[in-house]
Amino acid sequence: MSINYQFILDTIGDEVQPLLSRGKVAAYIPQLSTVPLQQFGMAVYCLDGRVYTTGHAYEKFSLQSVTKLFALALAFAREGDAIWRRVGREPSGNPFNSLSQLEHERGIPRNPFINAGALVITDILAERYVQSDIALLQFVRTLAAEPALDFDRAVAASERETAHRNYAIAHLMKDFGNLHSAVDTVIDSYCRQCAITMTCVELAKAASFLAQHGTVPWNGKKILDASSAKRLNALMLTCGTYDAAGDFAYRVGLPAKSGVGGGIVAVVPGDLAVAVWSPGLDATGNSLAGTMALERFTTLTTRSIF
Ligand code: GLN
Repeated sequence: MSINYQFILDTIGDEVQPLLSRGKVAAYIPQLSTVPLQQFGMAVYCLDGRVYTTGHAYEKFSLQSVTKLFALALAFAREGDAIWRRVGREPSGNPFNSLSQLEHERGIPRNPFINAGALVITDILAERYVQSDIALLQFVRTLAAEPALDFDRAVAASERETAHRNYAIAHLMKDFGNLHSAVDTVIDSYCRQCAITMTCVELAKAASFLAQHGTVPWNGKKILDASSAKRLNALMLTCGTYDAAGDFAYRVGLPAKSGVGGGIVAVVPGDLAVAVWSPGLDATGNSLAGTMALERFTTLTTRSIF
């Protein structure tokens, strides 16, 4: 059955309008609080190259934790299973920036998608690359076929100045011996990584290799083998939306990664990648309208992994 994606996206674009004023922008990074709330964009990138959009799908936004997906893919591709000696693969059931489990679990973060785990992945990349943030940016540029993608320096500086919690997490892990580079080096690199900006169209395209078993659909380049891509998708499903991962799986039923900039990217294996953006967040730090849009998307298309 052929699906009328354009009709479905337009329907969703209308349906989410009443939700746009309900969420809250991420004000703890001061620069992000300047983003107007009333925005919604969505883009579908099909493996055959078709693209469908609605709303502000060509507007740049701050990727924030969505970059954790690309950082993990790069580290996993380079280091393989060695990364699991330093970070776990279990949902945390705690907020993305929580410190509490780290003390009991001796500096080993639950998964690579909470801040603690992403800081370890940043450290792993810092050990391998002279400029790991640039290496990651290049990786994302290649995946999106967009050589002009960049960091937003004002957002990176704003996060860096207020990164007290991430500093606390990094110092605790350093004390447990699970951070090898200097804390400042890791935080600097992490804040720049989080400040990469992209549009929904670019993001859906960049994540499409995860829908095609680790191979970039438009140039055939193998980023991960099929087994590793499967594992990365599994982690997105169980950990990609933090302590809302259970509810997100229940409502949406797709592997996904969110960020406090209001972006979420999700994957329908064998079919497509879909990106949504709306800066108003719910209490767990996931885009409120974005989550609803993806829930409607899997309902209206009957495409999910379940
Ligand atoms: N840069 C943000 C932070 O470290 C990313 C958090 C997020 O998007 N959930 O707090």
